[in-house]
Amino acid sequence: MENAFCPKFTYYELVLNLKQHEEKQGSVKAGRKFHRRHSSTNLGYLPKNLKGRRLTEIRLFSKAHLYSGEIDEGIETTEEVILIERKYSDYLEVGATLKAQLGLLAILVEENMKKKVKKAMVIYSKKTRTEIQVDITDDIRNLALAMLERTKGILASGVSPPADYSRRCLACCYRNICPVGSLKLNQKKDLPKTAESTGCLYTVE
Ligand code: SF4
Repeated sequence: MENAFCPKFTYYELVLNLKQHEEKQGSVKAGRKFHRRHSSTNLGYLPKNLKGRRLTEIRLFSKAHLYSGEIDEGIETTEEVILIERKYSDYLEVGATLKAQLGLLAILVEENMKKKVKKAMVIYSKKTRTEIQVDITDDIRNLALAMLERTKGILASGVSPPADYSRRCLACCYRNICPVGSLKLNQKKDLPKTAESTGCLYTVE
């Protein structure tokens, strides 16, 4: 997911082992509390129009692709598993980071539970609540696996990958040490209201 945000992010976080310290950010703390509340309380609750068995906090490992991940929430029906992903945000965007996340979770479920994942419900909830259905297509699965392979390649080589400057740099926690991101630090006026989240990003109110 973070590699989909920016390949250099993987290098700083996992090769140089530079901590994000995302736990110090209020929006991240609030987001984690929000996730905990939904995955540990009201376990019988199902979102409207969804019927089946509710799944919460299931950690899975892929022998085929060698990675692990946790399903925070999902609904298992007789034919399929529907992923539920909650975002503590009112900024509705189904970008590459979210697609990579959903694709990797779908592959984990399909390999371990032997059921198809055709869709995910993404529930954005902060000031307002909006549900978006994302179809889990082969393009999403392929994007997820490409990000996984790119991450493994950076870990294996230890080489900093190239990345272009983009508006994401303005909201990246490594922008002060990254030569690409620090080039345009004075352009704070361009700071997006909120951006795709890697967990270390912050929201500008
Ligand atoms: S500052 Fe920009 S280029 Fe550098 S790691 Fe962050 S997003 Fe990537």
